[in-house]
Amino acid sequence: MHTQTVAQLAQGLREKRFSSVELTQHFCSRIEELDPIYNAFITLNKDAALAAAAAADQRLASDNATALTGIPIAHKDIFCTLGLRTSCGSRMLDNFIPPYDATVIKRFNEAGAIILGKTNMDEFAMGSSNENSFYGAVKNPWDQTTVPGGSSGGSAAAVAALLAPAATGTDTGGSIRQPAAFCGITGLKPTYGRVSRLGMVAYASSLDQGGPMAHTALDCALLLNTMAGHDPLDSTSAQDPVQDYTQDLEQPLKGLRIGLPREYFGEGLDPGTGACIQAALQELESQGASLVDINLPNSKLTIPAYYIIAPAEASTNLSRYDGVRYGHRCEDPGDLHDLYTRTREEGFGDEVKRRILVGTYALSAGYYDAYYKKAQQARRLISDNFTAAFEQVDIIAGPTTPGTAFPLGAKSDDPVAMYLEDVYTLAVNLAGLPGISVPAGFVDGKPVGLQLIGRHFAEAQLLNVGHRYQQATDWHQQAPVTGGTL
Ligand code: GLN
Repeated sequence: MHTQTVAQLAQGLREKRFSSVELTQHFCSRIEELDPIYNAFITLNKDAALAAAAAADQRLASDNATALTGIPIAHKDIFCTLGLRTSCGSRMLDNFIPPYDATVIKRFNEAGAIILGKTNMDEFAMGSSNENSFYGAVKNPWDQTTVPGGSSGGSAAAVAALLAPAATGTDTGGSIRQPAAFCGITGLKPTYGRVSRLGMVAYASSLDQGGPMAHTALDCALLLNTMAGHDPLDSTSAQDPVQDYTQDLEQPLKGLRIGLPREYFGEGLDPGTGACIQAALQELESQGASLVDINLPNSKLTIPAYYIIAPAEASTNLSRYDGVRYGHRCEDPGDLHDLYTRTREEGFGDEVKRRILVGTYALSAGYYDAYYKKAQQARRLISDNFTAAFEQVDIIAGPTTPGTAFPLGAKSDDPVAMYLEDVYTLAVNLAGLPGISVPAGFVDGKPVGLQLIGRHFAEAQLLNVGHRYQQATDWHQQAPVTGGTL
């Protein structure tokens, strides 16, 4: 069962080839047996999952089942789950049991999907390697000496190692696409506002967006159908109607204009990764798409702008963790000041502290104009580049990351080297655009991701291109375990 996609499992459930209880038990057993190798899960939700699966089996026997009824899904430990610990990868929230479900979780529950467990992640979603987790690093199933990417590395590793058929992630600067690329799976970061942020622990509120991670574009479409939609409780949630994202998957690519930003193919791109991307582009061209060279001249501003804006927002968002309301609290505080400082000193890891310091500095009265305001101006220029590009082309393509998964520990002492990992993904978040990473080959046995970027709300188009590509290739069917294929 674990070698099947969500679409195949859903059909198996409908045809009564197995029950949701059997399916859920199967994945729980795999996690219990194999996750000690990968550390992809922080919490396994076995008992509640099996109870939910029994209810799903009853619903499957009636006529009001959905495409996801009975399907076990792993959730990044950033989504609040009622009664189930939500740690956000931090000691600060190690004891936090949410009194409510995130809207995304609520929607999956309403669809009858099963919460398999909560996946490991970089603390507060800050990182590109999953090494910043309080619960320890995650290992890449393709090569256990390398990182799975981050911050949604647990979700990516869980899907790649066939411990879950699909998972959720969040993407503030690449955290769905980059781990999807490193682990050889498909990951979609939707348009900002497409998926509700209510109950998704906030990192950088103007950039954060939840999305699906799965083997195929079709599976991502099935998950997005459930995740997307207006939420009256999230004021940044988009009102635009949601389409059925499985509807346009088969559209031929004839006439599609694909922009190739010069800035994404230059210095810094590993030649092996570049060769995989060129081959993928040729495949799309052979299906009738045309390739057009474009420029995104302000690309060099993305890392500096992001690493001001994201820490600035994080510094304000994380001020709520003060030991008073919930989460970690230091022992025997002497006074209020001692309570705040010791709680935060103990509760946060190094990278989180670094971001809070940078963000607080950038927002402070004397430096606001020099840093935060400048970064916002750069953000506008970056966004304008995309607007201009989308007058010439329909989608933009390039590598998701400059290279393949790097060894554990290789960049953990060098924050700037780690930040450079995000060079091709950050601009999408700064401009609020949708982006997808699809498996596009291997370099020395390590997966490569092709990134496709669309206009606002063009998720269906990205999924269409991803799906057509996956019909012509089998990279997404390769597995690092059990026989090597799905
Ligand atoms: N690597 C980026 C960061 O550390 C992006 C993380 C993310 O998308 N959550 O901020």
